[in-house]
Amino acid sequence: MYEFIPDNPYLLLTPGPLSTSKSVRNALLRDWCTWDADYNEDIVQNIRRRLIALASKKVDDYTVVLMQGSGSFSVEATLGSAIPKNGKLLVISNGAYGDRMAQMARVLKLNYTIYSCQETEAPKPDVLERLLNEDQGITHVSLVHCETTTGMLNPLSELSSIIKAHGKIFILDAMSSFGGIPLDMADYGIDFLISSSNKCIQGVPGFAFVLAKKEELLKCRGNVRSLCLDLYDQWKEMDKSGKWRYTSPTHIVRAFYQAMDELEAEGGIPARYKRYCENQRILVQGMSELGFKALLPKELQSPIITSFLYPKAEFNFNAFYKAAKQRGYVLYPGKISQADTFRIGNIGEVYPVDMRRLLEVVGAIF
Ligand SMILES: *Cc1c(COP(=O)(O)O)cnc(C)c1O
Repeated sequence: MYEFIPDNPYLLLTPGPLSTSKSVRNALLRDWCTWDADYNEDIVQNIRRRLIALASKKVDDYTVVLMQGSGSFSVEATLGSAIPKNGKLLVISNGAYGDRMAQMARVLKLNYTIYSCQETEAPKPDVLERLLNEDQGITHVSLVHCETTTGMLNPLSELSSIIKAHGKIFILDAMSSFGGIPLDMADYGIDFLISSSNKCIQGVPGFAFVLAKKEELLKCRGNVRSLCLDLYDQWKEMDKSGKWRYTSPTHIVRAFYQAMDELEAEGGIPARYKRYCENQRILVQGMSELGFKALLPKELQSPIITSFLYPKAEFNFNAFYKAAKQRGYVLYPGKISQADTFRIGNIGEVYPVDMRRLLEVVGAIF
């Protein structure tokens, strides 16, 4: 039952950092000089071109900025760079990551307002419509695609059509979905889309990226509220020469390049999406047979991470967590206030066979 994983003591069933392939980790094992084409052209620019191709069929309309730091740094860079002094942001939030965007807006002293929903409730198109009608000052709207807090996949299509009908700039935190769920930025009028190296592309943590409608990124010039997190400046330098303004996380970037190769070898985003859906289906069905109910109804659930309710009030998550980790599986505590939950992610170098083994382990512990 205990799966011996030779180079890792456990499989991460968390939504980033997540389990990566051995070949991705091996790609970390050399140094890179950042002053010539070996790195700037053959790796950085190559990654940028491939990311744009993943984001839209209309490759000429979009560009991408890579940015040092975790995903939140790039969300903050986007909010701080995209919203002009006389602009106003509407943050749609139904979880911790939406709330974090509002927190960033507050710290950056942006003019903003928030549409706050229950964590287990999808944002409602008619409420969004009303808010946009009532406050004509709103220029930008931000949304989290997969709210990793609960695992909810927010209704992108319905919400984006309202955002675009009102002519607003649309910022999407697709951190935990990009690369794992098929999507074309042009179909939803997404102007800025943020994701990071350590989620569905299956690289290691250390940088994030912002895919942007070129026309909108060009308007960010001069909006800057931070030197390091200036999206426009970072883009200008990188677009010209493949150079990062400040020290580039070379090893992580090279590992990401390997992860992009592996995404292609798997069959691209549609194939990865299929694997994640299958992982999630096996997980939920098996957990349900063991007496664990999913928090969200099926129609709101993403194929990325699932929240499960404690099976009974006296359920000891810490003991459960420890026992599962000892047997090779790292689960994830819950993050919501309304119910006792824990989470299991199914993204990363994780396959249906791993889900089946996990279920055996859960069954044996429980
Ligand atoms: C992981 C994640 C982030 C970024 O979190 P970091 O800890 O800064 O990498 C942002 N939004 C969502 C939805 C996420 O899943």
